[in-house]
Amino acid sequence: MSRAIETSIFTEMTELARRTGAINLGQGVPDLPSPPALLKDVSEAVLAGENQYPPAVGAPALRTAVAAHQLRRYGLTYDPDGEVLVTTGATEALASALLALAGPGDDVLTLDPCYDAYPAGARLAGARLVTVPLTLDGDRFALDPDALCAAVTPRTRLLVLNTPHNPTGTVLSPAELGAVAELACERDLTVVTDEVYEHLTYDGLPHVPVASLPGMRERTVTISSAGKTFSVTGWKVGWVTGPARLVATVASVKQFLTYASGTPYQAAIARALDAVEPWAAALRETLLAGRDLLGEGLTAAGLRPYRAEAGYFVQADVRPWGYDGDDAGYRFCRELPERGGVVAIPTSAFRQATPDPAPWLVRFSFCRRADSLREAVARLATASEGGAPAREA
Ligand code: PMP
Ligand code: GLN
Repeated sequence: MSRAIETSIFTEMTELARRTGAINLGQGVPDLPSPPALLKDVSEAVLAGENQYPPAVGAPALRTAVAAHQLRRYGLTYDPDGEVLVTTGATEALASALLALAGPGDDVLTLDPCYDAYPAGARLAGARLVTVPLTLDGDRFALDPDALCAAVTPRTRLLVLNTPHNPTGTVLSPAELGAVAELACERDLTVVTDEVYEHLTYDGLPHVPVASLPGMRERTVTISSAGKTFSVTGWKVGWVTGPARLVATVASVKQFLTYASGTPYQAAIARALDAVEPWAAALRETLLAGRDLLGEGLTAAGLRPYRAEAGYFVQADVRPWGYDGDDAGYRFCRELPERGGVVAIPTSAFRQATPDPAPWLVRFSFCRRADSLREAVARLATASEGGAPAREA
């Protein structure tokens, strides 16, 4: 049986932006600066000849910096030797974790909508994906703890969590996280938690790792990455922290996906991670301004944005432009480059439930420079002046 998987929505929409010259607010690909010291350190490492395989589990300096980061920020203690694993981005960490910890006959539970690597990873592992919806509560996407409990089956092995959440921009609240932790302990679930946007929360909301809740450290594999935190998504350096037995299992798979990752990047990212706080504070300011600029622009253009508590993305309802029906978001996004010179992503691409309960949601990214967001907003304002093109017969 072939396990081929369809082309990712990010590839499709970024190619559409390239072809049409539209501003790419689809894929979360920042055009923001990275820490100058980080760029210099990597260049120097390359020129100094640090270009051969690092240890498969990652350079000691980066494993030490990751452990120090988890302790300093969250009070979580991990041994750099055995409880930290460096991966080729969070993507490889997710694939390794799903392949290592789930298999045929297992259910993998996650939130819906969700980042596309979770259904793909579950499928590669031969496991079944089961989802619980995040539903609109006012202008925020919320998790219903009862629905989460009801979605657990006797076959549930893994719970894949994501906070801050892509694509909704939700930060799971203390009550929501508490319910997850209680359920995981009660049903003896292993939790894989994707926290790549850990530094990018707004309006004073803290990031609380699920591993820091009572009873959770021993059953949680936490994943993060340098890509978002330092605006270096092309470098693909991520990491896993967790108890030794889980990290060893994940590492056993990782060694046959890529073996090891990006030598010159690792020591440089270690230094950047040691000094991440002031950098992340400034990045949050930039992204918050971008979020507000885009949100106001969407509103002015007659669309209806929801609250983005974190991350790179804002959700908007496109029905005010006349797009309705079960392909509303897809039609909007296919037509927007021609109509408005902007690319966005239909939230349906992240949706597992069929039919999609909210096919009119579209995800716009705000991880762009202010001038590019201003131009996008101006284009949306102009485009808003026409109604939705007539449906093809
Ligand atoms: N998880 C989430 C929620 C993401 O949005 C992304 C996209 N960057 C990733 C994982 C992948 O991260 P990386 O680029 O480090 O592989
Ligand atoms: N994480 C990014 C997003 O959600 C894109 C990642 C990718 O292109 N695979 O847009």
